Amino acid sequence: MAKQVMLKFTDVPRLMPEKREADARTEDFDEIYRQFADAKAAEQASRCSQCGVPFCQTHCPLHNNIPDWLKLTAEGRLHEAYEISQATNTFPEICGRICPQDRLCEGNCVIEQSGHGTVTIGSIEKYITDTAWEKGWVKPIQPARERTESVGIIGAGPGGLAAADMLRRAGVQVTVYDRYDRAGGLMVYGIPGFKLEKYVTERRNTQLSEGGVELRMNVNVGEDISFSDIKDKHDAVVIATGVYKSRDLAGPGAGLGGIVRALDYLTASNKHTLGDHVPEFENGELNAEGKRVVVIGGGDTAMDCVRTAIRQGATSVKCLYRRDRANMPGSQRETQNAEEEGVEFVWLAAPKGFTGEGSVKGVMVSKMRLGAPDATGRQSPEEIPGGDYVEDADLVIKALGFEPEDLPALWGQPELEVTRWGTVKADFRTHETPMKGVYAVGDIVRGASLVVWAIRDGREAAEAILSQFAATSKPVAAE
Ligand SMILES: Cc1cc2nc3c(=O)[nH]c(=O)nc-3n(C[C@H](O)[C@H](O)[C@H](O)COP(=O)(O)OP(=O)(O)OC[C@H]3O[C@@H](n4cnc5c(N)ncnc54)[C@H](O)[C@@H]3O)c2cc1C
Ligand code: SF4
Repeated sequence: MAKQVMLKFTDVPRLMPEKREADARTEDFDEIYRQFADAKAAEQASRCSQCGVPFCQTHCPLHNNIPDWLKLTAEGRLHEAYEISQATNTFPEICGRICPQDRLCEGNCVIEQSGHGTVTIGSIEKYITDTAWEKGWVKPIQPARERTESVGIIGAGPGGLAAADMLRRAGVQVTVYDRYDRAGGLMVYGIPGFKLEKYVTERRNTQLSEGGVELRMNVNVGEDISFSDIKDKHDAVVIATGVYKSRDLAGPGAGLGGIVRALDYLTASNKHTLGDHVPEFENGELNAEGKRVVVIGGGDTAMDCVRTAIRQGATSVKCLYRRDRANMPGSQRETQNAEEEGVEFVWLAAPKGFTGEGSVKGVMVSKMRLGAPDATGRQSPEEIPGGDYVEDADLVIKALGFEPEDLPALWGQPELEVTRWGTVKADFRTHETPMKGVYAVGDIVRGASLVVWAIRDGREAAEAILSQFAATSKPVAAE
């Protein structure tokens, strides 16, 4: 058992470096580290002024009760903080790691706005639930009683899993179908492990299956089983399939070897991290080691690609974006992280083709400037005549965004209504589609979005389904 070491917060920074070197692998170290982390979380949480106008809470898509769990953390009451935190968020430790807090809760903290640096809400949220896992406070779901209704969920990303969790807690029989071999969606195969460690999603999957959620992996709906079969089998269906069609680039040389899609690149890297045998990674096709890498795009996916390439040992990593820094769609924090890690950003640069024979050797780049605003008010990039040059590259990663697959065609369901962008039409509150008993949540409705929004949709759809079940009042199964 670890020795009890009494320390004041102020002692710890002084002690830590020596302890790390001398005692890094002992239980004493673990205990000291735990106390340091407790103290640090409490110190950060105590910076919350309990301002009475919790903009952080309004700007969190889940309206998490942030001031209350900060107060409890500051008082060292972590178990209670966890109870409050998990009441509104299915995966608090995941959101704490990967929400773009600078655009959501933290960006709206009044302390941040008064120029004193935000309370680090995300890190504290992560800390509370990581502690809960460590202490055994997170338990498998145990419904008070079983219900007879069943729900089929297509897609095991955050949207589908959040719905599964809430429905199962209410005793509903839940089956999740996914074409991947692991549950988690983009949380496992899109987002890199240095932002969201793989074990974090894995333990949630285990918690769900131990709680009675049936996770049916390697089932591609539309191929291995039809949508109609799923609809016939269950009392309600939730579509949570995300968006996976990558936007592409045309132009001379677009078909050369070494020009790859962001999601293929990231999936290979994630599978490798998980210990899978990945031939395209091992033969170098989807591995940046020793290469001059150019990533095209300015969103969060592009940031994940550049940061992954740095970690794989690329000799240089450049990011081309056709607008300027201020107009990048990705999080400023992520861009800054990438810069600090050695990524070079080439602003106002658009690809117009590729050089090379067989394999890519360079990207033909047009220099751009920002012109008149378009219909959305954003300045449109326009080419500067005579500004072309070639950017050397052995690996080009296209990170230009994603669109929905054509679900009505793939599933032979013309009556499944989609918008002109191909996203599934659903009521914004209940998430029910015009097809009775069929709900849709997450990216397949919103277009490429965020984990936290998918969680919110999944939870709301589950609530709507439960109200529907209550209204039709099927008998409950034996207790
Ligand atoms: C590279 C990358 C990085 C990102 N980083 C962040 C980040 O840092 N923070 C953040 O908040 N968001 C981030 N996002 C966005 C976030 O991952 C998504 O918004 C979120 O995962 C959407 O959840 P979802 O449940 O709607 O879909 P997904 O997570 O995409 O899950 C959909 C699931 O449906 C399955 N599926 C699809 N079609 C079928 C079918 N026909 N049959 C069976 N199964 C099917 C898929 O296999 C997948 O498992 C990132 C996205 C990408 C691509
Ligand atoms: S869920 Fe996201 S936005 Fe909400 S408090 Fe947590 S980190 Fe902030």
